[in-house]
Amino acid sequence: MTEEKSLNFLEDIIEEDLKTGKYKSIVTRFPPEPNGYLHMGHATSICLNFGLTRKYGGYTNLRFDDTNPVTEDTEYVESIKGDIKWLGFQWKNELYASDYFDTLYEYAVKLINLELAYVDDSTSEEIAELKGTPTEPGKDSPYRNRSKEQNLDLFERMKNGEFADGSRTLRAKIDMAHTNMLMRDPLLYRIKHAHHHRTGDKWCIYPMYDFAHGQSDSIEQITHSICTLEFVPHRELYDWLIEKLEIYPSHQYEFARRNLTYTVMSKRKLLQLVNDGHVKGWNDPRMPTISGMRRRGFTPASIINFCDRIGIAKRENATDFSLLEFCLREDLNNTALRAMAVLDPVKLIISNYEDGKTEEFESENGPDESLGKRIVPFSKELWIEREDFMEEAAKKWFRLAPGALVRLKSAYIVRCDSFDKDENGNITAIYCTYFPETKSGSDDSGMKVKGTIHWVSAQHADRAEVRLYDRLFKVEDPSAEEGDFKDYINPDSLQIANAFIEPSLKNASIDQRYQFLRKGYFCLDEDSTPEHPVFNRTVTLKDAWAKEVRK
Ligand code: ATP
Ligand code: MG
Repeated sequence: MTEEKSLNFLEDIIEEDLKTGKYKSIVTRFPPEPNGYLHMGHATSICLNFGLTRKYGGYTNLRFDDTNPVTEDTEYVESIKGDIKWLGFQWKNELYASDYFDTLYEYAVKLINLELAYVDDSTSEEIAELKGTPTEPGKDSPYRNRSKEQNLDLFERMKNGEFADGSRTLRAKIDMAHTNMLMRDPLLYRIKHAHHHRTGDKWCIYPMYDFAHGQSDSIEQITHSICTLEFVPHRELYDWLIEKLEIYPSHQYEFARRNLTYTVMSKRKLLQLVNDGHVKGWNDPRMPTISGMRRRGFTPASIINFCDRIGIAKRENATDFSLLEFCLREDLNNTALRAMAVLDPVKLIISNYEDGKTEEFESENGPDESLGKRIVPFSKELWIEREDFMEEAAKKWFRLAPGALVRLKSAYIVRCDSFDKDENGNITAIYCTYFPETKSGSDDSGMKVKGTIHWVSAQHADRAEVRLYDRLFKVEDPSAEEGDFKDYINPDSLQIANAFIEPSLKNASIDQRYQFLRKGYFCLDEDSTPEHPVFNRTVTLKDAWAKEVRK
């Protein structure tokens, strides 16, 4: 149970380290590989690393782990920086593992001099063959006992480009019978004649993750190097290298990856969704990427609250996507401006309202008075939501139906008298009578109605494209299902509504969030133009999925 005492076991460790004076202040780092856009898992790691130094002092570095020249790109570097800033965090130093290539090379030479590393001419298949299994020891490579001089010479020639890709590697000389397979002479360097996005063609040998990561931590004097659980077995090698090289002793700590239900959270899989055209790009609003969520209308506060509220775990689990949406609603409820939009419109005509007359009603912009009020025009012909009318009222139906009364939000009570239908049975118009004495704010009629519906004045309304999103996948954990994860994509994750919106939304700005009454939270999409406004539904007002389960 002690694990649950604190939401964040790393805070306990750091508090102890500061109390005992092990460190005077702490240094963390966020180390993304620039091979894709950041997702919610990274957001967790960002909130954790930056959150800890925000709380305890010290600072956090942004280090691009750019040791693999083939998959990396400056486009990704820029998007990563933008995402971190958007979340509201600021790094102390912007660093690149590739800046350390010279130092790492020296470290490798030092290991060779200590007779703790050797050049191996085996192919990757041969290396794999001699590796052994978790229950059987491996066997020494025939190249393991090369002399120091020979290793120094070969390693230098590897660097000078004399050998083909894959023909030689540099390996640490540890123990081929080690119980930890990662300690069985792990690879430190490989040959790769590839152009690097920062170092260009200077290098044709590149350090492996295990030889770059801990050493970079050490160079930057990172006190708490936080990574995800799959690196637990790597910690032994991390410590071994630091000890043998006699460099600054950074320490590695692990926590469970953040997984979310109904999505996938691996850059490799997200890239497939982009490349195969299942989504419109890394920042498609259905993507669990930070850029996708930003475009969808998520706020930094909602993401940070979500990360803080759940904390971190020592065991893998999947967090319900609804929890993230809960944090989002909580934030948007306070900040979103209220407006009316009709997503599936049908005409409502007020028979006894004067032709050509317009009234202007005041309506609150939100629950907080400081948000002020807006003017909403009203006239004889309105658009209302098709689903707010029933030809034959069901039991407990409090909205429109022949003979039924309903309040039009901020305006009057109306009674439905009749309706028109086309040959296909679709309702084309609803005719009502309004009661002038029921005007909102000055209603002394004594009339009581149970339902209030939203509307927009037909003559004043603008058209807008409204994009309604659903879960990207039909199952909780697409990666755990049989076959390809892409087989479980929800084909209905995007629906387009041709809506009518109230005139105040003409001035909608991309940073503002809106609550369309009864329809959810929305934001302007970057595809929007003044002639063709486009809104994204960020989230519904209630959890539609929870309701479905209850049914
Ligand atoms: P992916 O598999 O999506 O490529 P990664 O771990 O390879 O993820 P990196 O760019 O190497 O991505 O990760 C940068 C940092 O973010 C690392 O410290 C990593 O541990 C952390 N991170 C990545 N994914 C998650 C996740 N799902 N939950 C928590 N932290 C994560
Ligand atoms: Mg990675």
